[in-house]
Amino acid sequence: MPEPEDEPHVALTYQELYVRVNEVASLLRDFAGLRAGDRVTLHLPMTLELPITMLACARLGVIHSVVFGGFSGEACGIRMADSGSRVLVTMDGYYRNGKLIDHKANADIAVATAGKEGQPVDKVLVWRRFRDRAASSTPMVAGRDFVVNDLLAGFRGRTVDPVSMDATAPLFLMYTSGTTGRPKGCQHSTGGYLAYVAGTSKYIQDIHPTDVYWCFADIGWITGHSYIVYGPLALAATSVMYEGVPAYPDAGRPWRIAERLDVNIFHTSPTTIRMLRKAGPEEPKKYRYHFKSMTTVGEPIEPDVWRWYYEVVGKREAVITDTWWQTENGGFLCSTKPALDPMKPGSAGPALPGIYPVIYDEEGNEIPPGSGKAGNICIRNPWPGIMQTVWGDRERYIRQYYSKYCKNPTSKDWRDWPYFAGDGAVQAADGYYRILGRVDDVINVAGHRLGTKELESACLTVPEVAEAAVVPVTDELKGRAPEVYIALKPGFVPSEEIQARVVRAIETIIGKIARPKHVRIVPDMPKTRSGKIMRRVLAAISNTMDVGDVTTLANPDIVEQIRHAVQGTGPVATKAGPDDIARFGETR
Ligand code: AMP
Repeated sequence: MPEPEDEPHVALTYQELYVRVNEVASLLRDFAGLRAGDRVTLHLPMTLELPITMLACARLGVIHSVVFGGFSGEACGIRMADSGSRVLVTMDGYYRNGKLIDHKANADIAVATAGKEGQPVDKVLVWRRFRDRAASSTPMVAGRDFVVNDLLAGFRGRTVDPVSMDATAPLFLMYTSGTTGRPKGCQHSTGGYLAYVAGTSKYIQDIHPTDVYWCFADIGWITGHSYIVYGPLALAATSVMYEGVPAYPDAGRPWRIAERLDVNIFHTSPTTIRMLRKAGPEEPKKYRYHFKSMTTVGEPIEPDVWRWYYEVVGKREAVITDTWWQTENGGFLCSTKPALDPMKPGSAGPALPGIYPVIYDEEGNEIPPGSGKAGNICIRNPWPGIMQTVWGDRERYIRQYYSKYCKNPTSKDWRDWPYFAGDGAVQAADGYYRILGRVDDVINVAGHRLGTKELESACLTVPEVAEAAVVPVTDELKGRAPEVYIALKPGFVPSEEIQARVVRAIETIIGKIARPKHVRIVPDMPKTRSGKIMRRVLAAISNTMDVGDVTTLANPDIVEQIRHAVQGTGPVATKAGPDDIARFGETR
């Protein structure tokens, strides 16, 4: 479904999909020279060309690495270099919020960035957004850039035998933010991943042949990989894709699409729900669609947002499943089974069949199941959808996910290696898990993960900035947003111009999704005596919470100065905040 409402929607049958995937696979093999095991980066918007290209890669055993279309060219180039992609597949332009975005310009930046990082790129394959004209005025580079639509004329009707791969061969990489400055490439397998997403699409998404399923996410994130592309297509589902932003041209758009296409299973994030509620709280009532089930994913959903989703969007006819999982997991870990388990707003639900969570305290003691006490949620057992490794960094994989609660580092028995998810959680007496948020230096913005170190590194590219600290602040629509604190090098005077350059640096290096809510220039950072920046204190100030005891800091006076600058002269607020903010920064 294109974003402009006057453009007709395109319907693709499975037979047509098969033909197009084969044509693109032959192009990738015979024109681009890609072979099983090669990596290729896809920086594409939400049009049919994206799943077609992904499946063409899968047909050849080529490992795709899809970078979210909204990420900057630089962010794409860094990921290309990490994955060792010498081919980039992109599109000339696409619509976003009524504007035609020049996406080809990002490809040039991505190639230049990859080059600087030591990764040469020899081909850029550019899909055209329009059949008959270019959507971008950015020139094509002779010998490097090629229009896919033109090349395809030479591959019409070609078929390619699928390359048979081991179940454990990598299917794709998906980069996600972690606790260090560089994003990590989560490597997912062919057999286990596909089995897991097909199974969870069937039993949790409950997709039947007569259903019309719409996952309103972007394929550039794991949700789109698992629950737009691989899971639903493995079930031969009728599945909807939409190019644009939710409330374009108005907040009735999703409900018009649902009515027009007879959608009856709907899947989206709390951020989208909050945004649609704010922009058009009564809009769903105007349209005659009927959902039987609705999913939320990516962040905790507040009970009042849940109620609007249930009562207004779902018209009290649809069950809601709140699914908890992560890029690393392949598919859902905790969720209710729709219409079988009772719904409980704000709780993801019990573990999926085959998943055995355990909650540990910091010392590795097991928190009694059902006790309602908070700790770090882990999964005791491996499961088919779990990532295989961090691309090119096995040590990081073990360190990040398995070393914290490992019972015996020399053991080869999986029982000794619980998976550490990086989320805080509680389990209630009824067995339902409530996810409290990240316990590490990752901020969940609008359901998407941003590493604070990545943001801080971007701030430090502005020459005047001496130190940077990024903390999460609660946001009415996005759940959380990053807030930036910077201290300047001696001799520089705070100015709006510096603040604007910090914002620009973040947008250029990461993308607009990382845009901070505020950039606050402070005279100094609150620090421990050993010189560590106390992000927890800054997070408390940003969220008008009590900063706690700061007397042991090296410079306690600065806390009051910053608090005064941020919160004004009012009394110190002590509003209880979400756990992830309270815990934030304690791990550093
Ligand atoms: P990502 O890997 O980008 O999908 O982000 C995963 C993170 O999002 C998790 O570690 C959680 O912090 C958060 N998350 C995902 N789903 C939920 C949910 N249903 N409820 C609460 N938090 C969630």
